[in-house]
Amino acid sequence: MEFNVSQLLKEGIGSRRSYSLSERVEAMTETGTTQVLGSMVITRTNNGVWVTGKFEANAVGSCVRCLVITDYTVSFELDAEYAPRMDINSGTLLDENEINPDIFSLTSDHILDLSEPIRQCVIIEKPMKLLCDPECSGLCSNCGANLNQATCECSEGIDPRWSELRKFIPQ
Ligand SMILES: [Zn+2]
Ligand SMILES: [Zn+2]
Repeated sequence: MEFNVSQLLKEGIGSRRSYSLSERVEAMTETGTTQVLGSMVITRTNNGVWVTGKFEANAVGSCVRCLVITDYTVSFELDAEYAPRMDINSGTLLDENEINPDIFSLTSDHILDLSEPIRQCVIIEKPMKLLCDPECSGLCSNCGANLNQATCECSEGIDPRWSELRKFIPQ
């Protein structure tokens, strides 16, 4: 997800390039994202470039009910600004103090790396209640068994202290 924007930086403010993206990437930290699809526009601004686009990405997280690792997909719009590290005309490295920490930085080779803003968007878009399945039965609050895979002795809502008495209940 790297784009060389050196040509764009040499052009006037408002110049733009469109890209479509369909990339497999090494699993991102925290989100486990390995695939990103989308389209975007990179626009030259007065102090750098501005990226806007719509993307879709996969991610992995654990189901809030049964804790099993679950794949999910998120869609999001990205809006990110990048400032140069290197002055495109003079070829001099910018002073660290001049680099705004609130926006992303291009590399000194004028490469725009989209992976960090995309990773941040995927984290924000993670469902509050991620489920492996809308019908997930979750874990037994008493013995911890995964009720999607097995039924446990306590799954009938009977206090385990009374379980001995269950053998007297006609089946
Ligand atoms: Zn689940
Ligand atoms: Zn149980």
